[in-house]
Amino acid sequence: MKTPFCENCLETGVFCPSCSEKLNKEELTETDLGISRLLHKYKRRFYLDDVVFLKSLDLGKFVLIFTATDASFLIGRGGKIVNELKKDLGGRKVKIIQRTADVTKMAEEILAPVRPMSINTVFKPDGRKAFKVRIMKKDAPLLQMEPSELRQAFSYLLGAEAFIIFD
Ligand SMILES: [Zn+2]
Repeated sequence: MKTPFCENCLETGVFCPSCSEKLNKEELTETDLGISRLLHKYKRRFYLDDVVFLKSLDLGKFVLIFTATDASFLIGRGGKIVNELKKDLGGRKVKIIQRTADVTKMAEEILAPVRPMSINTVFKPDGRKAFKVRIMKKDAPLLQMEPSELRQAFSYLLGAEAFIIFD
């Protein structure tokens, strides 16, 4: 299992210079640390060897957890691990998303159960890349996150601004 923090720091709660720096620079958040600690604790009960936890996005009632390996490793059989995470994160909703090079797949996972009509790359007047995500207007009530939250999730995963359009 990998988390952004070293094993020793998670075990002892005393942070080495490298882990402290990650936290101080706000590259990583308290939520990232909390999840890393939980996973470290879960290791005794669950098989987590293949889990690579990258970062989380705390959206209040929703926590998105980004991983570098298959999301199912952190979901666990029958949702056993993710259910434990939900409980330990104060009963909030948790969504596990694997970061891949496949933009469409990641977007679909963020938006699930809503399926986007299309995802296009556009260029802003300043030349920067952005994504235009089209969703059917009738699906809007099914979205589990606010448009502003979706934008945050997209910009982390896709590394570019995203515009959500309801058609
Ligand atoms: Zn450390």
